Amino acid sequence: MQESTSPETYELLRTSVREFVSKEVMPLASGIDKQDEFPVDVFRKMGRLGFLGITIPEEYGGSGMDYVAQAIIEEELGYASASLALSYGAHSNLCLDNLYRNGSGYIRDNYVPKLASGEWIGSLCLTEPGSGSDALAMKTTATTVGDRFVMAGSKTLITNAPYSDLFLTYAKTGESHTAFVVLGNDSGVSRGAKFDKMGMRGSPTGEVFFDSVELPENRIVGEYGKGKDIILGGLNSERVILSFIFIGLARRALELSLKYATERKQSGKFLYQFEMIQEKLAYMYTRYETSKLLADKALSALAADPMNSLSAAATILHVAESAEYIAREAIQIHGGIGYVRGSEVERLLRDAILGQIGAGTTEIRKHLVSLALVKNYKSNNRIPD
Ligand SMILES: Cc1cc2nc3c(=O)[nH]c(=O)nc-3n(C[C@H](O)[C@H](O)[C@H](O)COP(=O)(O)OP(=O)(O)OC[C@H]3O[C@@H](n4cnc5c(N)ncnc54)[C@H](O)[C@@H]3O)c2cc1C
Repeated sequence: MQESTSPETYELLRTSVREFVSKEVMPLASGIDKQDEFPVDVFRKMGRLGFLGITIPEEYGGSGMDYVAQAIIEEELGYASASLALSYGAHSNLCLDNLYRNGSGYIRDNYVPKLASGEWIGSLCLTEPGSGSDALAMKTTATTVGDRFVMAGSKTLITNAPYSDLFLTYAKTGESHTAFVVLGNDSGVSRGAKFDKMGMRGSPTGEVFFDSVELPENRIVGEYGKGKDIILGGLNSERVILSFIFIGLARRALELSLKYATERKQSGKFLYQFEMIQEKLAYMYTRYETSKLLADKALSALAADPMNSLSAAATILHVAESAEYIAREAIQIHGGIGYVRGSEVERLLRDAILGQIGAGTTEIRKHLVSLALVKNYKSNNRIPD
C-alpha cells in the first residue's frame, strides 16, 4: 500500500494542478478537439511538473504520492479537457502505475523513470479486434523460443498508441496470460492510422501490430502466466481513477449551465426562474454530488483492497451515466446554441459518451456489480458496507 499523504498536501496539489490547467489547458481545449491534435508539449510539461509519475516513488523519478493525488489530477484535467485527461490516465495509471507495481527491478530501473518524466509516452494494450469485453479471449501470443519470447498478433483502440514509446502488452502464453513490456522501436512493432473519433478528440487512439517481435525474459511484467491478476487488479484502479475525468467534466457542464441559466432571459425571465430548468439543475447537481461521494468511497476501498471489483465497477457505472446525463441536460439548457459545433457543452457530451465504453462498458459493469452482490449475499447474507 502507498504511504498516506496529508490533506494539506492534497490541497496544495489541487491548487497547482488548477493553476496549470487554467493557464496551459483551458485555452487549448477547444482547439485540441477541433484539430484532433494531441498536445504533446503540454503532456511532457506535465511530466516535468511531476504529474505523470504522481504515484511513483521519488527514487524512480516520481512524486511519491497515491491514487487520491492521481484522482485530483484527473478531475482537474477532466474539467478542462477530458481527452487530455484520458491520455493522462492511459499513460500514468494504466501503463506506468501498473508497470511500477508489477515490474521487476530491471523494469523499474530502465523504464519507469522515463515514463514518469514524460521523456517517454506509454500505453496499455489489452483490447484486440476480436476481443473487447471478453478481453481474456485475446489472440495475441507470446511463444517461448530458446531464451526469448516471440510475440505475434495485434491490439486495437489503444490510447496514445500513435505516440507511445512503451506498450504494456498482454499476450496468451499457452493457456495463461502474461504481461510484457514492448517498445515502440522493437523490431516487428508497427502502428496503424489514428482513429477519427466522435469524442475524446486529441487523445490519439490507434492500432498496434506485433509481427514476430522478439522479447527477452526481462520484459516480462510480474510473473510468467500471472497476467490475468494484473489485468483484473489494473482494471479496478483504472475504473476508479478514470471516474474522476467524468466528475471533472460533469462539474464543467453544471457550471456552464448555471452561467447560461442566470444570464439568458426568455419571456422576461431568467432561465433559472422556470421550474423545469430548476428541476434540471437540481438533478444535475444531485447526480454530480453522488458521483463524487461514490468515487471518494471507491478510492478508500481501492487502497484497502485493490481487487475490490464491486466498488470500482459500481462507481464508474454511476459516474459515467451521470456525466452523460449532466452533459445532455447542459445542452438542453443551452437550447439551439448548445447544439452548435464548437459550443463547449457539445464537446462535453461527445466526450462523456466514452465514459460508458472505455474501462469496460456499462453492460459489463452491471454484470460485475450484480455478480459481486450475489456472491457476497450467498456467503454473508447481506449487502457489503
Ligand atoms: C477512445 C477509446 C480508448 C480506448 N483505450 C484503450 C486502451 O488504452 N487500451 C485498451 O486495451 N483498450 C482501449 N479501448 C478499448 C475499450 O476498452 C473497449 O472498446 C471496450 O472494452 C469494449 O470492447 P469492444 O469495443 O470490443 O466492444 P464489445 O465487447 O464488442 O461490445 C459491444 C457491445 O456488446 C456489449 N456486450 C459485450 N459483452 C457483453 C456481455 N457479456 N453482456 C452484456 N453485454 C455485452 C457491450 O457492452 C457493448 O455494448 C479504448 C476504447 C475507446 C473507444
